[in-house]
Parts: sequence; C-alpha cells; structure tokens
Amino acid sequence: MQAIARPVEDFAAAEFQSVYERCVHGLRAVVGSENEIFFYAAAGHATWEATFANLFSPGDTILMLESGIFSGFWTGIGRALGLTIVTLPADWRRGVDVERLDEALRQDTTHRISAVAVVHNDTASGVTLPAAEVRARLDAAGHPALLLLDIVSSAGSLPLALDAWGVDAAMGSSQKGLMTLPGIGFTIAGPRALARHQQARLPRAYFDWSRMLNRPLRHSLGTVPANLFRGLAAGLDLIAAEGLPAVLARHQRLAHATRAAIAAWGGAGQGPMLYCQHPARQSDSVSTILLPPGHTATPLRDVARARLNVCFGGDLGLMRDRIFRIGHMGDLNEAMLLGMLGAAELAMHQAGIPHAPGLAAAVQALCAPASR
Ligand SMILES: *Cc1c(COP(=O)(O)O)cnc(C)c1O
Repeated sequence: MQAIARPVEDFAAAEFQSVYERCVHGLRAVVGSENEIFFYAAAGHATWEATFANLFSPGDTILMLESGIFSGFWTGIGRALGLTIVTLPADWRRGVDVERLDEALRQDTTHRISAVAVVHNDTASGVTLPAAEVRARLDAAGHPALLLLDIVSSAGSLPLALDAWGVDAAMGSSQKGLMTLPGIGFTIAGPRALARHQQARLPRAYFDWSRMLNRPLRHSLGTVPANLFRGLAAGLDLIAAEGLPAVLARHQRLAHATRAAIAAWGGAGQGPMLYCQHPARQSDSVSTILLPPGHTATPLRDVARARLNVCFGGDLGLMRDRIFRIGHMGDLNEAMLLGMLGAAELAMHQAGIPHAPGLAAAVQALCAPASR
C-alpha cells in the first residue's frame, strides 16, 4: 500500500522501466518460468478472456477439467467467445479424476481438442489439481493440445514450476498470493502458445499479444497503471526477501493449522467440516468449510464482518449458502491466523452454528507441524 500511495509517474521513463523489470523477474522466480509475460490492466477474469482470444479461433474445442466453481466461470467466458468447451466432470469435493483424461485423449483421434484447461487451485472448492500430472498424461498420449493453467490463487502461495511442468499458458492476477490491489492480470506464454497465437482468429484488440510485443513494455494498450506495478513489485520483493521456500512452507504450516481447527470444530460429526474430501488436494491457500445441514453461512459472515472486522469468503454457488471460506494466503503469520480462527469460532457461536472448540487444535498443529 505504501509503494502504491505516490503520485502517478511517467510510465515511459527509465525509472518506471526498472519497476517493470522487478515485476517480470520477481514473477518469473515465483512461477518458475522464463517465458514471455503479457500484462493487462484488468483483474483475473480478463486473463481468461485475453488468453482464449489470443490462442484460438471460433469453434475451437477446449477440454476443461472440472475443479469447482472457477472451472465453471472460465467455461462461461470461453463459450461467450464462441469456443466449444467440453467439460471433464468432477465431484467438486474432490476435483476431476485425472486418469479419465487418458480416455478423453485417446478418443480424440483427429486432435480436435486444442487445449486442456486446468484451474490449479479452485478458490471456491478449496481443491488443488495436479498440473504436472496433466502434462504427463498429454505427453504419454502423444496429444498436441496446449496446457492452460489458471494460477490466480496459487502464484506466491503454492509451489509452481511452469516450465518444468510444460505449461503453455498460465494466467494470474495481482490481488491474491501476490499481495497487492486487484487490477493487474497477466498471461505467461510459452513458445507453443506464441506459435498458436499466429493462427488464432478470435477478435481481440486491447488484449492483443501481437500489439503488445511491439510495445516496450508487454502491457495492453494505453496507460500503464504504474502505481499498481509498484505495488506488485513490492509484493514480489517481500516474497524474495522472505525466500520463496520459506513463503511456501509458511503457507503449508498455516493451512495445516487451519485444517486442524476445522477438523476439531466438526467434533463428533455435528459441526462444520472441510469441503475438500481428497486428502492430497486440500488447498494450502484457501480452506472451504461446509456447515451442518440446516445452517447457512451468511449470518456467520455478517457477524464476523460487522462485529469482528473479519471478512470470510462466501459460498459462490457451491452449496446454497452452506459454505464459508478462509483465505490463508499472502501476508499472514501465526498470530493473524490464530486471531482469525478465534474470530471464526466466536462468529459461529454468535450465529448459532454447532461446533466443538478448535483454536487449541490449531495451536497444537503449529507446535508440531506435520508435512504432507
Ligand atoms: C479470483 C480468481 C479468479 C478471478 O479473478 P478476479 O480478479 O476476481 O477476476 C480466477 N481464478 C481463480 C482461481 C481465482 O481465485
């Protein structure tokens, strides 16, 4: 916030060039990629549209691996643009069974599928999908589809190795694990994506990568939001100063403590429980909590916001308001986490949601951090 709160500057000046370069280098380190980065003055949804528009032509087929609500939002954008989105369906509490990809690829003998789209971390269901495994299955099938990965809520919070995983295009934004205001979106595009871009015929203007490649900064047309870039650079500097491995370990530790509290709240099965039922896919950046039947989350969220100054995420259409979500990504430490879990417990109490005590379980988990 301090990095952003300054007069607007000349984004064509040398001084800003160095801020922009800090963003490029910092981002590359966080996501594990040396590929081209295209920035847009836009939030995460726009990166879905920009990436589709730059890669595909009307009627192209994309295979979407279902992960929860966010794979559905992304599907809606693709359909609105005139793409054919085929969904590999999933139980939202587990995310797609990636073995089923083999069959879908085998059946696609004419290679109609242009890309496989994966939300790495579905911020609604709290499910993390195994991106590297998707690439391994594409390679094993000898299928040429591009691999697209949404990293909006994993960049800066979960381990990423985009180049090693063979991700052709990854989309992210500034306001989650990268810890700044919403307003910068980006696509990280590899050589296969850039080649595909040359044949893509969907209309595009503001987001056109070809135009951006002709600009000194790889940014969409017009004014560059220099203050936001200063914020992004500051967020990336914080990650570099703490050290990426330490940042990722902290996310794992705090997520583990959060899950310990949730499990304890559930008591003998009468209380809330973790929505994600796939043990290896429980997200380390957000936990989604399912309330017992007959209880809704809005009163709990209202109490937390109004009386405790804590904002919990809502249901987003997952389960008719039986869900609240805890974000544990970005600038967060043990004291903040325990304060928030205590607030959640108090809010559940005040909203009349049955639960057993859980805060002590979180403390216990932080005393003896288990690794997965
Ligand atoms: C938040 C989010 C988005 C959308 O980003 P906005 O900035 O809200 O448009 C897309 N994908 C994932 C996984 C997200 O968490």
